Amino acid sequence: MASDLMTPAAVSPARLKRELERAVRACTACELYSGRTTPVVGEGPFDARLMVVGSKPRRHEDLQGRPFAGGTGNVLDQALQVAGLDKQDVYLTTLVKCRPGDDRPATASEVEACSQHFRTQLRLVRPEVIVALGSFAASVLLRRPVSIERVAGYRLDIQGITLIPTYHPADAVRGVPQAAVTLRRDLTAAKAVLDGRLPTGAQTLAELRSRTAVGS
Ligand code: SF4
Repeated sequence: MASDLMTPAAVSPARLKRELERAVRACTACELYSGRTTPVVGEGPFDARLMVVGSKPRRHEDLQGRPFAGGTGNVLDQALQVAGLDKQDVYLTTLVKCRPGDDRPATASEVEACSQHFRTQLRLVRPEVIVALGSFAASVLLRRPVSIERVAGYRLDIQGITLIPTYHPADAVRGVPQAAVTLRRDLTAAKAVLDGRLPTGAQTLAELRSRTAVGS
């Protein structure tokens, strides 16, 4: 994923942001465009080292046009603060940019249609660490179905980016007991990876391979 992340050097971040927003606002590539109030492009600086990725906008996000709004946003803000992360330094986005009706999960074809925009964001931001919120986002980014209960907190390597799956703040809002504390723990781990205090996903994978090498 990271190997083809080339940002045109001559184009200013402000212009890239405008072009991305224009592309998403004009997008009718899947049926979700017809039910949206406001498409939610994403928010944050293009030089962010950390990208936080959810699956889809929900009601508050759709109304405000901003990712992670309402109670979900409050939980995320608190977790970022506890982790020592400045929200202004983090790029926040979702896999699909338009709210599915009744807050149902996005379909595979909707995620595929919207991946053009997500790939653009990856090319522009070039994050070192991605925190994937919830089973759905983690499964899409890992390209296989995973349960967040089983993978939360692992540091995984996806083509040079350290992926840390964790609970979605909406899980905490719904009262899933371990969601808030695990989200804080895993964002703290993301900060430690960025600070060089914890191994990246690639280092973790190399260590795992060395431990399981034939003959060892
Ligand atoms: S969800 Fe994505 S692909 Fe579908 S209409 Fe919205 S921006 Fe386009």
